[in-house]
Amino acid sequence: MITKQKGTYDVYGLDAKKRKYVYDVIDAICEKYNYTYIETPIFEASELFHRSVGDSSDIVRKETYDFTDRGNRNITLRPEGTASIVRSFIENKMYGNLSEPVKVYYVGPMFRYERPQSGRTRQFTQFGFELIGSDDVLSDAEVISLSYNIYKLLGLDVKIRLNTLGDNESRNNYREALVNYLKPNIDKLCDDCKERININPLRILDCKVDKDSEILKNAPKTLDYLNEESLNRFNKLKEYLELMDIDYEVDTNLVRGLDYYNHTVFEVIANIKEFGNENVLGGGGRYNGLVEMLDGPSTPAIGFAMGLDRTILAMETKETKFDIKDNIDVYIMYGNDEEKETASYILQDLRLNGFIAETDYMNKQFKNQFKSADRFKAKYLIILKNDDLKDFKVTVKDNLTKEEELVNINDLVDYLDMKL
Ligand code: AMP
Repeated sequence: MITKQKGTYDVYGLDAKKRKYVYDVIDAICEKYNYTYIETPIFEASELFHRSVGDSSDIVRKETYDFTDRGNRNITLRPEGTASIVRSFIENKMYGNLSEPVKVYYVGPMFRYERPQSGRTRQFTQFGFELIGSDDVLSDAEVISLSYNIYKLLGLDVKIRLNTLGDNESRNNYREALVNYLKPNIDKLCDDCKERININPLRILDCKVDKDSEILKNAPKTLDYLNEESLNRFNKLKEYLELMDIDYEVDTNLVRGLDYYNHTVFEVIANIKEFGNENVLGGGGRYNGLVEMLDGPSTPAIGFAMGLDRTILAMETKETKFDIKDNIDVYIMYGNDEEKETASYILQDLRLNGFIAETDYMNKQFKNQFKSADRFKAKYLIILKNDDLKDFKVTVKDNLTKEEELVNINDLVDYLDMKL
């Protein structure tokens, strides 16, 4: 037997319905915020991720799925969504008319060669949103509010963890101070951190191994190295979040793993103790330099990505309600071939008119067809009998009250419309 690959999973049955429900909630709210759906390829030129996510990031150094295709191209299965969206933004010249920002959202599988554990797999699904073309602080607030409200709508109690890296000048000043502080202490940190100090020192702050060490707790804070403009910007963002009644806390050690962030960085945290480090449901931030880094015109942008699998795990742990439709409108029953032909015609008619309709495909006896209808939680039964069909009629039975009525086949749609 061929089995699935380590770190991957199949989604079916109730799990698939739960997913679909979460998709629907996200679709609906993205529409309210006026984001449009976008799809980009699952594989891209490896260089895209080397340049955007960054050669110094853990993702590119250790986690990408890379291969050479039959045409000798270096290909990578996407480990995240933003790089592809920015590539598409540039390639399709979406910057041509930036009188409004480009606001898009995506959903799809991402691939990272990680150690699989609860809430962490090698193929996982992310939802993400990007707002490209505005540097206005209100757009930061909008992306944070959309991220926050999705979870609220899904019934989860979440909090925003917020920080700012400031503009390039502030970020560089901070980086220098951090390196000066960490260098004498670097022997006390993990091996990964010893490498990070040279290639990406900010990443040391969100090291999972050294997270609780005193060295990191006492490290210089980004907020102390902000120039006046960056500080004003951060204060304005907090003001908007308060006006929007968004629950947030400032965490000066939050820097996020990817190289391309500046100014705002944030994460959405689930209030679930058992989740440990995996309680980060999603994260995002501003990436004003990325479009230019990928050869587009300098364009500010901000985005957010959330893990769908972890979100569903959080909902299950908190026992929030998945609003899943688990019943059908009509079950059609028949006893012989002639009635079965009529069933095929009625099924087609009802489905095209928007009803969820089912019938028997296993040649069951009437008694067992009733059982099937109950299993499907059918609201109505349509019972076909040759005697009624002569007058072009069928019996419609309310499966709850058990009341029956003879209805002309031509009137079925109107009849059910009235009842359902
Ligand atoms: P990141 O792109 O690393 O900021 O991740 C954003 C979100 O995607 C995380 O908060 C998780 O919810 C989810 N995520 C990231 N990596 C994985 C993974 N390996 N398995 C499942 N979910 C993940």
